[in-house]
Amino acid sequence: MRRFLSLPNVILLSLALGVIFGWIAGSAKLLESGILLELLKLGGDLFKSLIFMVIVPLVFVSLICGMMSIGDLRKLGRVAGRTLVLYLITAALACIVAILLVNAVKPGRAIPKETRDRIAKEHEAKQKEIVGKIKTTEHTPWTFVRGIVPNNVFSVLASNSQMLPVIFFALLFGLCAAMIEAKRREHLSYTFESLSLVMVRMIQVVMFTAPVGVFCLIAVATASIGITIVKAMALYCLVVVLGLLIQFFVVYGGVIRLFTRLRFVDFIRACRPALVTAFSTSSSAASLPVNMECVNKRLNVSTSVTSFVLPIGTTVNMDGTAIMQTVATVFIAQLYAIDLTVMQQIGVILTAMLAAVGTAPVPAAGIAMLVIILEPLGIPLTGIALIWAVDRPLDMMRTVVNVVGDGVAAVAVATMEGEDVKYLPVDTEEDRSSNG
Ligand code: ASP
Repeated sequence: MRRFLSLPNVILLSLALGVIFGWIAGSAKLLESGILLELLKLGGDLFKSLIFMVIVPLVFVSLICGMMSIGDLRKLGRVAGRTLVLYLITAALACIVAILLVNAVKPGRAIPKETRDRIAKEHEAKQKEIVGKIKTTEHTPWTFVRGIVPNNVFSVLASNSQMLPVIFFALLFGLCAAMIEAKRREHLSYTFESLSLVMVRMIQVVMFTAPVGVFCLIAVATASIGITIVKAMALYCLVVVLGLLIQFFVVYGGVIRLFTRLRFVDFIRACRPALVTAFSTSSSAASLPVNMECVNKRLNVSTSVTSFVLPIGTTVNMDGTAIMQTVATVFIAQLYAIDLTVMQQIGVILTAMLAAVGTAPVPAAGIAMLVIILEPLGIPLTGIALIWAVDRPLDMMRTVVNVVGDGVAAVAVATMEGEDVKYLPVDTEEDRSSNG
């Protein structure tokens, strides 16, 4: 019984209860306004804020620790190289599978014109807001590259959505710190390791609030998804989900089999708390601390690999997002009867890979980045509003894939580095504390 009531299980239970409650309350129109809705939103927002406040310091401190603990610059280069190659290969596979699926199923052709017009009209206001917001910022590959180097590190540290410049600064800092005189380096390294421990401890404390936070987030999301729209876009969702499933079981299962001695089910078992967090918060960033703990403690991956591979992956490795962006682009083109040539579809794959790297690890960021892919192809941006309606559940699922992809890379890189990666059926700190 005590084991059953471990924190990950309680979080799962509150996830299921949240869905049931949200569905009943949504059908009874109890969550359209009023105190109940406000309370649920407050619970969800507070939980997300508690996690988000730790993210930037955690990424910053972990990356520096990771670089300093690897120490030897040659090993650092090797770990970085392997990590990036793995991220690149899995992202390319994700986009290729997605483009094949969407061309085979052709979900965009299945929706009659009247339905399309009705949905677009229902979401006109939202559509104006999205398109307006996106259009005010110029998105080109050049602005993307320029944005990687911060001109003021404190301003990017103050924002949760600009992770690439934070990573850039932390990597440079870690690299230069590894070059200073040994005695000072040891002091610095000790300080950063202590800071990192404090961050991990903070996350463990925050995770005690997860059952309530997850319940609130899921209940509101379930109640707000309109059933008619979900039905109309079912085929599009089906293709995205199919792509995510293939990525999850075939690509990731394959990488685990090829590169490690782990069983895939043990990998999943070990990462379960991170997956539940990803599903309920729709944010890879929010799942990072839990993911780090799972990979480090339950899969026996060294702290140096964990704190290097995972924070970078959270920001640049988003295979689930790339799948959604690829399917969505071709789907919207099909809706508007735009035939994309093979070359254009290859272009879609390449830009989706880039857009996924530039997507912030927060909810709904992936759909906003679609503009980078749609605009050069002349596909109407209003199409974004159509898929926005059904994006929330897809966001939850693709975030799970994004998070799993990072864990897969971490265990693969650790095995290549000669580490004894194995499933340790030990409880994390949270489990132990919740078991008393
Ligand atoms: N929510 C996703 C994540 O945090 C990003 C996206 O919107 O695709 O991983």
